[in-house]
Amino acid sequence: MASFEKHSLVGQVALVTGASAGIGRACAIELARAGADVVVNHRHSEDEAKETAAEIEALGQHAVVIQADVSVEADIVRLFDQAEEALGPLDIVVSNAGLQKDAKIGDMTLDDWNAVISVNLTGGFLVGREAIKRFRKKGVRSQVSPAMGKLIFDSSVHQVIPWAFHVNYAASKGGLHLLMQSLAQEVSAEKIRVNAVAPGAIATAINAQERARNEEGMLKLIPYGRIGEPADIGRAVAFLASDASDYMTGQTLFVDGGMTLYPEFRGNG
Ligand code: NAD
Repeated sequence: MASFEKHSLVGQVALVTGASAGIGRACAIELARAGADVVVNHRHSEDEAKETAAEIEALGQHAVVIQADVSVEADIVRLFDQAEEALGPLDIVVSNAGLQKDAKIGDMTLDDWNAVISVNLTGGFLVGREAIKRFRKKGVRSQVSPAMGKLIFDSSVHQVIPWAFHVNYAASKGGLHLLMQSLAQEVSAEKIRVNAVAPGAIATAINAQERARNEEGMLKLIPYGRIGEPADIGRAVAFLASDASDYMTGQTLFVDGGMTLYPEFRGNG
């Protein structure tokens, strides 16, 4: 196999949660660009999800739009059932859906805490568990990949960088880190690869207000000197989904313009 072919996802089926916008949409598109058919999940943004699907179809791949809330167990089982019915057994699952509900600790309600943990962390558990069950049922399809399945979590630099005023979010991503590693330890012997991508600051709705208020401050945290684009993450996810990364499992790929280099320490401390 020529090395460029190892980046190919031709003949594979991918599912991306929260793919109606932002990073999830970019992941879905980059997976399609590499040749995969893609299941586009959304929670309550059908029109936007259809736009993602249209972009995938314009690349010559099949797409199907399926509503499901990643924090609801029955929704996840239905999502995977409908996905397989529409496009066949899944080779790649990207657990991307996530949200923020920011507050100072004294003002953070239990609802704020639960909302973030239930989507970012419990959602990752539910999607990851179902993906692994389905990969096992499908088995290895050696004509498309030596791996039985590829599971990729969308984490964050805040799996390692503490984040005041966002303790629910940082805790969810810190938890996701050990969820990812523990799953990888549990299932890698079955040829299921489990990895994560950890974005820095990427221009999406999740941080639109902060970018409008404080883009200069954000840029001080990014040695490479620009806010990231969703496609920066989509391309990294396509790599983790492909056989080009076949010897990687249990790893987090930081795609952050150097944010985790802690640039505040350059000439300081
Ligand atoms: P976004 O708000 O544009 O997209 C989030 C997506 O998740 C949306 O499509 C939303 O509908 C979906 N979603 C939310 N709750 C859901 C649920 N319960 N069920 C199904 N879908 C649901 O934000 P984004 O920046 O694209 O975020 C995507 C992921 O990237 C998140 O996990 C986020 O934590 C992570 N991330 C983003 C950044 C960044 O700077 N943008 C940085 C690090 C990590």
